[in-house]
Amino acid sequence: MATKLDVNYLCPDCRSYLRVWNNIIFSVKSCTEDKKGLLLLNPDLGNYEFISHYTLDFEEMECLDFFCPVCGSNLTAADVNTNLARIIMIDENQKQYDLYFSRLRGEHSTFKVSEDDIVEKYGKDSSSYVDYFMSKLKKGKDEK
Ligand SMILES: [Zn+2]
Repeated sequence: MATKLDVNYLCPDCRSYLRVWNNIIFSVKSCTEDKKGLLLLNPDLGNYEFISHYTLDFEEMECLDFFCPVCGSNLTAADVNTNLARIIMIDENQKQYDLYFSRLRGEHSTFKVSEDDIVEKYGKDSSSYVDYFMSKLKKGKDEK
């Protein structure tokens, strides 16, 4: 998949651009251990390669807190599922989406959500969230 340089990723709180060249930059912290640092994710959805300093040796399925590196806001999607973090994606047509991804190291689940529907999902583990996700989104829609 070709990298689209005109797709942007924003902090939902301060709306700073989190993408620098070909990386989405986060400040992360282990939920259980005293480990923290910078984590760079690939902006291509479904590509789970990442870059970090070698001392950030997170274990498989270790839980991470993702923070905006600009305002420090915790990006956990507490209103949808605490295992997921959320940022904003703005595509090349200036359309805005919520982008959810797993906070668990090695769990590959990414959801691109527009208003009340999953537009795209990526990753080998995404199916485990779909039912939960849809019921949560549907519930939000019913309450409107
Ligand atoms: Zn921010």
